[in-house]
Amino acid sequence: MSGVNDIRSTFLDYFKKNGHEIVASGPLVPRNDPTLMFTNAGMVPFKNVFTGLETRPYDRAVTAQKCVRAGGKHNDLDNVGYTARHHTFFEMMGNFSFGDYFKDRAIELAWNLVTKEFGLDPKRLLVTVYHTDDEAADFWKKIAGLPDDRIIRIATSDNFWAMGDTGPCGPCSEIFYDHGDHIPGGPPGSPDEDGDRFIEIWNLVFMQFEQLTADERVDLPRPSIDTGMGLERVAAVLQGVHDNYDIDLFRALIHASEEATGVRAEGAQHASHKVIADHLRASSFLIADGVLPSNEGRGYVLRRIMRRAMRHAQLLGSKDPLMWRLVPALVREMGRAYPELVRGEALITETLKLEETRFRKTLARGLTLLSDATGEMGEGDLLDGETAFKLYDTYGFPLDLTQDALRQRGIHVDLTGFNDAMERQKAEARANWAGSGEAATEAVWFAVKDKTGGSDFLGYETEEAEGVV
Ligand code: ATP
Ligand code: MG
Ligand code: MG
Ligand code: MG
Repeated sequence: MSGVNDIRSTFLDYFKKNGHEIVASGPLVPRNDPTLMFTNAGMVPFKNVFTGLETRPYDRAVTAQKCVRAGGKHNDLDNVGYTARHHTFFEMMGNFSFGDYFKDRAIELAWNLVTKEFGLDPKRLLVTVYHTDDEAADFWKKIAGLPDDRIIRIATSDNFWAMGDTGPCGPCSEIFYDHGDHIPGGPPGSPDEDGDRFIEIWNLVFMQFEQLTADERVDLPRPSIDTGMGLERVAAVLQGVHDNYDIDLFRALIHASEEATGVRAEGAQHASHKVIADHLRASSFLIADGVLPSNEGRGYVLRRIMRRAMRHAQLLGSKDPLMWRLVPALVREMGRAYPELVRGEALITETLKLEETRFRKTLARGLTLLSDATGEMGEGDLLDGETAFKLYDTYGFPLDLTQDALRQRGIHVDLTGFNDAMERQKAEARANWAGSGEAATEAVWFAVKDKTGGSDFLGYETEEAEGVV
């Protein structure tokens, strides 16, 4: 069985053998890109190379890139613990051609890696292409020998990639693995495609156009390739498991969480362990890259991730701060590939410990308030916005933590009421210019921003440039 670390090396070495430069992962906080909250795809560090603003001494590259999808356009936070395939932090492996090879070679390289190096059964693979991309469909037929019924044409934006409203864009083609008919879910393009039977492992983007204005698109003189393969997803396939959380790396993290809590990862508790393991990675890597918990912007996304995990630790009955105790397991699993984890270990540990110690002061009381407020409720009911806001303001519950806590019971939060309460709070804070507690701090910050036209706020919903692969 190949472990995650071997699979990563196989990928990098394979493309190196095929003339690609191995480039180290860029940071999670993108350099010089205020439009993007976190690096969310392998192409992010190469954006300027694709647009021609920057040149590099190579025209083919391969990376394993740290990614976070927990805010903005790509937000997989709510999927964690519920799907077999989503993390907030994951590694996207990719090969890139900057005006060098194009579609046919990209398909050939991908097919050979997947079927020869990785040895996947071709009968379990199917691909999608953009509905008008006959060229790609033909290559899949010729190069991979795939029959027509396993080359699925998709007309949605899932198979058309664009960097932004203008700039490079083009069709993409995705490789899916069929985990078998014992798992619910349909093939891509079918009504139940969101199930987890057919799992998307690799996205190949063919950058062949440039969007000049809303309705003018021209051919790029030197088309490029950008691909993204989820390391954890391909590891699941190679290790013969269906769920990403059953791969070697996650087993080790979940084992550490089981040991520390004394609770087995079974039944209803399993999801909590998954969330803890996932959020441990996201939090630790973000801290290692210089993000610290705060009440705004990137720091608030980190705080939300940390506090969600901390609620799950509480659910598992953990009496003392838990997360910091799991850091050594993470460093053991990933520290070799990512030395920043080793360098940052003390800071990561202290940050997790401090945040959990603080949050524990209000967490239990907040949960009691929440269960009192929803005691009589059931599926389809709505928690009033005032209570959700009180949890946020007084008890430090990020909104999505409250939503997550109610999700299993099918209870939703009245968002309009929540926003109204938030607005009132902000107006009061503006009037008083003082206060205490988190929301007040945030409101003051908003006020400062309103006055100065501050540039960097990235809140719950932020418009960000398309960063996907
Ligand atoms: P999905 O449809 O499953 O959410 P996606 O289409 O959003 O995936 P892409 O943006 O195409 O994913 O990213 C390229 C690859 O990165 C995917 O094919 C997948 O292997 C991997 N990937 C994407 N999102 C995640 C995630 N949240 N956790 C783990 N791997 C991911
Ligand atoms: Mg997605
Ligand atoms: Mg997809
Ligand atoms: Mg995709």
